[in-house]
Amino acid sequence: MEHIADAIRTLKNELPQGVKLVAVSKFHPVEMVCAAYSAGQRVFAESRPQELAAKVNALASMKGADGKPLYDEIEWHFIGHLQTNKLKLVLPYVSMVQSVDSMHLLEAIDTWGRENGKVTDVLLECHIASEETKQGFGIDEIPGIVAAGRNFSNVRIRGLMGMATFTDDESVIRWDFSRIHNLFISVKDSQGSSNGQCSSFSELSIGMSEDYRIALEYGSTMVRIGTMIFGPRVY
Ligand SMILES: *Cc1c(COP(=O)(O)O)cnc(C)c1O
Repeated sequence: MEHIADAIRTLKNELPQGVKLVAVSKFHPVEMVCAAYSAGQRVFAESRPQELAAKVNALASMKGADGKPLYDEIEWHFIGHLQTNKLKLVLPYVSMVQSVDSMHLLEAIDTWGRENGKVTDVLLECHIASEETKQGFGIDEIPGIVAAGRNFSNVRIRGLMGMATFTDDESVIRWDFSRIHNLFISVKDSQGSSNGQCSSFSELSIGMSEDYRIALEYGSTMVRIGTMIFGPRVY
């Protein structure tokens, strides 16, 4: 558990100001979330609805001698594939869904939000990797989705999320990040000019344990780090 505090300290020192550290706790026990919280970490992410809901409930039940909840400052993000029949396990708890990968899901989050009185911040997940399996919108689809998103009252599209190709070849990773970065800048610029005001489209979530340093060079505003903080996952 000491390793967790060390890793968080190292990362916080290394990340430039304005870059948010998202600690990815998926597949790790809730005690590890507690250890990271004690080291000052407040933003966590999960990728499976049931696991998120179980951790939220477990943490809510942990109270100090004074009866106050010990871990009530956590900001949860969701980063996995989300099916619309699982929204109620996720949306009540999260401040952001980073993994919106279809128009159908965007509409469902908006509808759920209208029915439950919540506005959810989301990122559009872009498919930038060369693997077929990675979820997400194609780069060409993003401007249209952002435009359509202006009609939703209960979702706010805050930016883009992407995963680079899983490879040791740094030039491939750079190519992936440069494409999502260019897309991010072009959408952000067009948003600013069409609104005539400061846009809330401001987040670029790129970078994981193996490639976050490269992602920072391409304008990452949020890094999602699991292994480096919590160690390898046992699936
Ligand atoms: C698991 C996961 C991460 C964390 O990956 P690490 O390599 O363990 O840092 C980041 N982003 C997404 C979308 C993930 O599913």
